[in-house]
Amino acid sequence: MEVDMANAQGKRVVIVGAGIVGASLAYHLADKGANVTLVEAEGIASGVTGRSFAWINTRYAGPDPIAELRGAAIKAYRRLESRLPDLNIRWTGALSFNAKTNEALPVSGKQAPVNRVSRSQILGLEPNLKHPPQSALYAADEGALDAVAATHALIAGAQAYGAKILTQTRVLGFVTQGAKVTGVDTTMGIIDADVVVLAAGTGITKLTDMLEVSLPVEASPAIFIRYKSQPNLVHTLISSPEMEVRQSSDGTLLAAEDYLDDTIESQPAAIALRTAGTIQNQLHGTGSINVQLACVGLRPIPADGLPIIGYLPNVAGVYVCVMHPGVTLAAIVGLLASEEIINDKVASALCSCRPDRFLQM
Ligand SMILES: Cc1cc2nc3c(=O)[nH]c(=O)nc-3n(C[C@H](O)[C@H](O)[C@H](O)COP(=O)(O)OP(=O)(O)OC[C@H]3O[C@@H](n4cnc5c(N)ncnc54)[C@H](O)[C@@H]3O)c2cc1C
Repeated sequence: MEVDMANAQGKRVVIVGAGIVGASLAYHLADKGANVTLVEAEGIASGVTGRSFAWINTRYAGPDPIAELRGAAIKAYRRLESRLPDLNIRWTGALSFNAKTNEALPVSGKQAPVNRVSRSQILGLEPNLKHPPQSALYAADEGALDAVAATHALIAGAQAYGAKILTQTRVLGFVTQGAKVTGVDTTMGIIDADVVVLAAGTGITKLTDMLEVSLPVEASPAIFIRYKSQPNLVHTLISSPEMEVRQSSDGTLLAAEDYLDDTIESQPAAIALRTAGTIQNQLHGTGSINVQLACVGLRPIPADGLPIIGYLPNVAGVYVCVMHPGVTLAAIVGLLASEEIINDKVASALCSCRPDRFLQM
């Protein structure tokens, strides 16, 4: 890799947030020789990363302003896993079918290839499906990871390059000199920085508000469910109108569901039971499926749906990094953002993501 050690040397970078995005930034920045401190209010992956379905999903319906970024996501993970085998990505491919499956395939040449597969091919991939559709879309190059384990692997990699990790340490405010941020004020005291990177998920707005910068990031709820069941029920990742499920090698079944409302019948535990029934209706051989965890996760979704990545225009020294889908994009964003921060190399793939699109100067 291209490393500009002279530029990186001694550059003190404080990253706020140890979700998968902050962890990837810490790894890539420390790899480039920056003096990295990662500050996390709670524990590693305690935010939405710990509640993620974690599908590396590079598909997007319609014209995609971040096609270049999304299209580079899988390659960035492939590169990372060759350096960090503990990432344990499961490249199972992803099978999706819905009423629109008969529409044209995604055409962006930049995205992972998606092929239409027939009923018999679907059954070859997922022999336990009780009601296979006539056709589905299959992205053979896609996969998923355990987002908590992957975040730990990235942080261990960052530590191996000298990064310092402070958990249970909340950033309370900023230290400024004129219009430049020169550090963060935390529950453990002040930490000086040349650059502060905000990877705080839905917590980012509280931080940028303190700098009088208002970023429109919604905390959008979704339901994450984990079941104990026998292995080898689901081989790929299935996304259909009935369910979104995948399975890890130990048999844990993972599902993601829409958040409906806060009534009793829409509580995560109730949805988890209904979804278990759906899975049993859709798959042969399920036997018992026991809920291990059902919870709501708050996804940080910027108002226009695109990531917000780059330096704040009106305050020097603050680089923001907030996005959905954060698991899909963490590897490529960590790589490109670290090049911007350390090598001053502007990434064209990030040009639709700049914060100034929301900020009237
Ligand atoms: C049910 C569900 C399914 C999903 N499925 C997918 C999927 O299939 N694919 C995909 O790509 N994405 C998926 N997502 C979204 C994905 O999980 C998120 O986009 C991603 O985890 C965001 O990571 P992050 O590091 O930005 O945020 P977080 O994991 O929330 O990390 C931010 C961290 O910042 C810390 N923090 C906040 N404020 C402060 C402060 N003041 N001081 C110090 N620390 C602070 C928080 O404690 C937190 O740990 C899903 C989400 C849900 C809920």
